[in-house]
Amino acid sequence: MQNYGLKDRVIAITGGASGIGRSAALAAAKDGAKVAVLDINQDNIDKTVEELKGFGVAAQGYALDVRDEAAMARTADAVEADLGPVHGLFSSAGISRTSPAETLAVADLDDVLDINVNGVFLAAREFARHMIARGAGSIVNVGSIDGLGGHPGRLHYVSSKHAVAGMTKSLALEWGRYGIRVNAIMPGFVDTPLLRANMPQKYIDRVVFDRTPLGRMAQSDEIGAVALMLMSDAASYMSGAIVPVDGGMTAGFLTRG
Ligand code: NAD
Repeated sequence: MQNYGLKDRVIAITGGASGIGRSAALAAAKDGAKVAVLDINQDNIDKTVEELKGFGVAAQGYALDVRDEAAMARTADAVEADLGPVHGLFSSAGISRTSPAETLAVADLDDVLDINVNGVFLAAREFARHMIARGAGSIVNVGSIDGLGGHPGRLHYVSSKHAVAGMTKSLALEWGRYGIRVNAIMPGFVDTPLLRANMPQKYIDRVVFDRTPLGRMAQSDEIGAVALMLMSDAASYMSGAIVPVDGGMTAGFLTRG
């Protein structure tokens, strides 16, 4: 079992009821952290919170849409009141879409930006209100390797993830003076419901083998682990970092054979 030094600390996770966010929630609970699961999916929140409580830690679920400003403000206050001062925020809620650029509707672009950009910003702003008052906190945002380069058919998602990288750097610059560290992880291909809904197996097999030095997809706990490491005191001098967690996929031009 990993030790992230998060025992008794409060960790809030958006998108915490599935995939990468859920894996981070489970790892945090195993580490002894108190965990707040923020998600739009009530059924999955309930299941995840039950699992978290199985580790003997305090855990609570909060159903919200990360786009809802008032709900995010209320939820940040509620987490502080229910579980205590929030040490770390992990923003993992996000959606993924595919569409050729030439037929992409502005409404679809708006949808993706609303959740993947505005939602990440709102969570940071509302939880940081409390962190700023205390002069301490750590925020980890989820980008993607699609935030490091282009990807045909995914202009909306790519744009949103580049925005997450830019936002992360800006927040690190603005909030360092308050003792808040802000970093982003950029996962490659991770075996989650979101990936399965967007990528056919044939595409995954070809791209993962051709482009990833490690030759396989990530499991979601391999991504959540890096988020918790960045949140921990082991990363006390890391801020504004954009960290690929991609099996080496973006390291360069891979040729096999
Ligand atoms: P997932 O679908 O398993 O989990 C995402 C969670 O976010 C779900 O529980 C969903 O209910 C929640 N969510 C979605 N919209 C929401 C909203 N408006 N308000 C509140 N909650 C909402 O997906 P995942 O693969 O774990 O993805 C998590 C993050 O990682 C996303 O930001 C995604 O873009 C990013 N990412 C995933 C991969 C991958 O290969 N799976 C790769 C790179 C980046």
